[in-house]
Amino acid sequence: MNTTSNNHFWKKDKEHFIHPYTDYATFKDEGSQVISKADGNYIYDSNGHKMLDGIAGLWCANIGHGRKDMADAIHQQITKMQYYNPFGHTTNEPAAELASKLAEISPGNLNHVFYTCGGSTANDIALRLVHYYNNLRGKPNKKKIISRNYGYHGSTYFAANLTGIHGTKDCFDQIAQDLVSHISAADMYRRPAGAENLTEQEYCNFLAAELENRIQQLGADNVAAFIAEPIMGAGGVLVAPEGYHRRCWEICKKHDVLFIADEVVTAFGRLGEWVASKEIFDYQPDILIVAKGINSGYVPLGAAILSSDIYDVISKPQSDGGVLSLGFTYSGHATACAAALKNFEIIEEENILENVRNLGPVLQDGAKELLTNPIVGDVRGKGFMLGIDLVSNKDTKEPLNVASRVFTKCMERGLVIRPIVNLIVISPPLTLTENDVQALLQIVNESIEEVYQEVS
Ligand code: PLP
Repeated sequence: MNTTSNNHFWKKDKEHFIHPYTDYATFKDEGSQVISKADGNYIYDSNGHKMLDGIAGLWCANIGHGRKDMADAIHQQITKMQYYNPFGHTTNEPAAELASKLAEISPGNLNHVFYTCGGSTANDIALRLVHYYNNLRGKPNKKKIISRNYGYHGSTYFAANLTGIHGTKDCFDQIAQDLVSHISAADMYRRPAGAENLTEQEYCNFLAAELENRIQQLGADNVAAFIAEPIMGAGGVLVAPEGYHRRCWEICKKHDVLFIADEVVTAFGRLGEWVASKEIFDYQPDILIVAKGINSGYVPLGAAILSSDIYDVISKPQSDGGVLSLGFTYSGHATACAAALKNFEIIEEENILENVRNLGPVLQDGAKELLTNPIVGDVRGKGFMLGIDLVSNKDTKEPLNVASRVFTKCMERGLVIRPIVNLIVISPPLTLTENDVQALLQIVNESIEEVYQEVS
């Protein structure tokens, strides 16, 4: 997408910036679209083209872009104390305040916060701590992690291992592969063999049985944790059958397996609640992984929030006279934490969770109307998390890999969506108005229709 070839940022970027998740078949010629400005629910490219941000940056700009109140809070913290060493017995005011706030809004006894720099590092740290926890409990063999195909858990070495979008690992090495075991995704639309004609309840039982069988095959004494997103994001906006997470959680409890909820996308309002696991899906994670919406992406921050049961075991000297030896220079970064506190204040003051509860159904129901288009096979999601699955044949559900064409047409009409092969992902700022939702739906509808006309 070379809309800015005369722009010197475009050239410098193309020559020097190794972008995450970039298609090098086209990047070296086309470079990138430079986004120069972001304001509220809109972004602007370097040609001044204004677009509704249908993906909140990357599932993160929950309170919208470029807010002065947020900038003031960040400025205030920087001029007071931008950062100080968090190691050992030193802390800072925003990190302490935020840890207490996170404990308050996290369900049950999720009372202890380990700060990281994003979601991948939060998953990595969680897994190191889970292994440490089992070592200290005298269960040194209890180390394997069950994850799911199509789950996305990040891009550090171990988080990539957890990730079940296996194509992303082609030609890369993997470490400690024997520690991770993947089971089926909870995919209502494209189900595994043998599950095609089951009712929703039967399918839930089928998936739960797969988890339990896998724990038994590996040996419960060898399985440390199960990790799952409440709704799979990057893997396809996959909404599990009713009761699935609760059943998996019960199985985990039965076998002394920790349940890690990766809520990097879903926490802090995307589904209309602070935390989706308990409020929406009725289970109590042992570890909650958060990032992105924690401060709406204004400053990088993530966290692994641990139960008191885990904390009680790990909060001991690592060895005689030793310290718990893991952490980052930027764990509990004062400015990032101050941004998170301001983010929560804004969400509360502006009733942003209510906005998602009110407009989520408008977005989801409106999108369901796209199903009349012959290339729209499935529309799924919840709150402000939406996936539109494009197919060449509704009976066979054969994926139609034209999402990038829809993306281009949406962009021309003033909307950014995220194309993933045959899937259109929509995850807008939680501050969208009803007019924004209607405009978004209209643009998506027109763009899909135009692509349909081209391919039929
Ligand atoms: N977990 C989930 C569910 C995610 O969606 C992501 C990123 O999209 C991550 C983890 C990784 O987070 P980060 O990119 O901040 O490392």
